[in-house]
Amino acid sequence: MAVREFAERGADLELVGIQKRFPGFTAIEELDLTIPAGSFFALLGPSGCGKTTTLRLVAGLEEPTQGRILIGGRDVTDTRAHERPVNTVFQSYALFPHMSIIENVAFGLKRRRIDDAQGKAHEALRLVELDHLAQRRPAQLSGGQQQRVALARAIVNRPALLLLDEPLGALDLKLRRQMQLELKTIQEEVGLTFLHVTHDQEEAMTMADTVAVMNKGAIEQMGAPQELYELPRTAFVANFLGQSNLFSGEVVSSNSESITIDVAGHPITVPLSRSQRHQGEVTVGVRPEKVALHLEAPLDDSGRNSLGPARVIDVSFSGVSTQYIVSVPGIGTMTVFAQNMGFGPVAVEGSEVWVSWDVAHGFGLADEPD
Ligand code: ATP
Repeated sequence: MAVREFAERGADLELVGIQKRFPGFTAIEELDLTIPAGSFFALLGPSGCGKTTTLRLVAGLEEPTQGRILIGGRDVTDTRAHERPVNTVFQSYALFPHMSIIENVAFGLKRRRIDDAQGKAHEALRLVELDHLAQRRPAQLSGGQQQRVALARAIVNRPALLLLDEPLGALDLKLRRQMQLELKTIQEEVGLTFLHVTHDQEEAMTMADTVAVMNKGAIEQMGAPQELYELPRTAFVANFLGQSNLFSGEVVSSNSESITIDVAGHPITVPLSRSQRHQGEVTVGVRPEKVALHLEAPLDDSGRNSLGPARVIDVSFSGVSTQYIVSVPGIGTMTVFAQNMGFGPVAVEGSEVWVSWDVAHGFGLADEPD
């Protein structure tokens, strides 16, 4: 298939001991990162955590204060931006309004007098399924189509590495979801290395093979999306990737399988293998969708953590699921997500309830919540 032959494989990216200080502010503390060739890697974090600075360092738009940057094994730290095998797609597409779509995509190739610029531009447009609109002007395309043109323009010269800086941020939610899937498919087709920065956890988890969660200029945890979600190591990661119920307590017993902590008089057990700490003060957590709500005290709670009686203080219906906020005496509030199976709400505001979850679904953190 022509598309598969479109680009050469991407290159791997290595950041070694990178630090970036601006006058009076350290944006990147120390960053070591290896992104394998051909992967879709997301840097995820809140505003100001240093994502864009990292991307700009890789692109050559900023110089690191310390450290080295290697692309495909070649040290490019001192290489100028336009000589690096890297392209960037920004949130703003910055297409030339007076040129047709095909001229926009071919522009860079023609300027560098590359053979068959027109043919290569058509090939890139076919890849993003816009070749039929090649003669239109940017203003005659939708936002999503313009973003696909920007992508075609960024991959037409076969960069080893494609940097994506919140590329879908300007699109509405429905289009953004559609583009997330399309971008992932295109990345799989061309096999280039994609480094995508975003503050949107759903976007990072949907698209990337590997996600690095950044906080205050450092990577807090890195792994496959499901691994980060199921087994967050810190309170920041637990809360940034979805919601968590977190409880802090003191370890009162442990064995080769699990630890049990005392939380305001309630024993909560976590598998040893799923806890970062095994003694002293430990914060444990469970995701809201892993928690079951009961209208009576569960008769058999073996293998489960169980709390109650508690009181439902808020119920909000959101289509596929309902969110319950439950107040547990001595512990505080817990969030429970229950799938709506068509039987109406399990409990109403004010109901007395018990909550429970399989011990295997809890996790223990390396730190305490802020
Ligand atoms: P956002 O999602 O809002 O773009 P970000 O995670 O990409 O955030 P960066 O743009 O990398 O964050 O900025 C990281 C920190 O470095 C911020 O606190 C920012 O104010 C600071 N910073 C960035 N550029 C400069 C600069 N040229 N001079 C001083 N401080 C800077």
